Amino acid sequence: MSSERAARAVVFARTGEADVLRETEFPLFPPGPGEVLLRHTVVGVNFVDIYHRRGLYPLPLPSGLGLEAVGVIEEVGPGVGSLAPGQRVAYAQGPVGSYATRRLVPAEALVAVPPGVEDETLAAVFLKGLTALALLRRTRPLAPDETALFHAAAGGVGHLAGQIARAIGVHLIGAARGPEKCAFALEQGYGACIDTSWEDVPTSVRRLTGGQGVPVVYDSVGRATWTASLDCLRPFGMLVSFGNASGSVPPFDLGDLARRGSLYVTRPTLATHWADPEGRRALVEELFALLRAGALRPVIGGRYPLAEAARAHRDLESRRTRGALLLLPGTESLP
Ligand code: NDP
Repeated sequence: MSSERAARAVVFARTGEADVLRETEFPLFPPGPGEVLLRHTVVGVNFVDIYHRRGLYPLPLPSGLGLEAVGVIEEVGPGVGSLAPGQRVAYAQGPVGSYATRRLVPAEALVAVPPGVEDETLAAVFLKGLTALALLRRTRPLAPDETALFHAAAGGVGHLAGQIARAIGVHLIGAARGPEKCAFALEQGYGACIDTSWEDVPTSVRRLTGGQGVPVVYDSVGRATWTASLDCLRPFGMLVSFGNASGSVPPFDLGDLARRGSLYVTRPTLATHWADPEGRRALVEELFALLRAGALRPVIGGRYPLAEAARAHRDLESRRTRGALLLLPGTESLP
């Protein structure tokens, strides 16, 4: 296959552990109406890619993987007026298939990369930073005198939530496993960090809040933390359940929310915000403003060649990583 009209991508034909991922070559067709041909420079790795690979969020198989990337436009299809070859663009909400060297993408999914923003920086903050921003700004904005609990505080989304909280004057207690991750979370902007390797989270939250509990818990861990998160809330508090890193939240009794003090539960997604053009524009604008102001400085926890996407997945799901993980499609091997 001529490399001019071909690309490499990571695909999987059955769900399972990371070893189901395969790198393959596929032919590239010219962009159709409303599409652009993009050469990816950096691809963001997200926990949702693991849900897709495992089948927790089912995809028709065989499938590509990955929802976000930064790249350079090589060709534009008919009807694409606002973008041109050579332009740097990024996307954070698919379509699935960003683990690739090049691909066709609908123009409407793309956002122009502002001058001065590095490709790696944007790939590290785009999906994860927009998620953190939407949680803190939209899902349950916190009053200046409120403090919330944020799980997985040292992770991709979590470390950016700490930085954003510091920038917008919001108080967060983090929860992370191990002293190194906790020290890292504190550096990012968390006011305190509960080490889940030995602390009981509700007990520590009560200690840190004068026995009151918190008004909001942002929980992306899911099954393993569900009950503890409810136990951290004060009356009328809200559990913002936005992920399932430990597995899906089991069915629960609504009466439990009543008994614990008229609690609220919500299950937000970035996709809902992204689907609203005004919501998307405002979030993206604020993210870029935070980058420009130097308030958002993503920490890159690992860089991997495309062919080693499986290793990136193993690292992420084994809780070894901090910050954001990136795939570099133009690189065959990295030290
Ligand atoms: P992270 O870098 O945060 O990695 C996941 C972290 O979760 C781990 O580092 C670990 O931190 C913690 N964790 C706790 N239990 C487990 C477990 N059993 N297996 C694996 N990890 C566990 O990932 P991302 O930043 O990519 O995503 C964070 C979360 O946010 C995910 O749950 C993701 O699904 C969710 N998300 C949701 C979005 C939405 O639209 N709703 C959008 C984007 C992300 P520790 O060891 O410190 O506990």
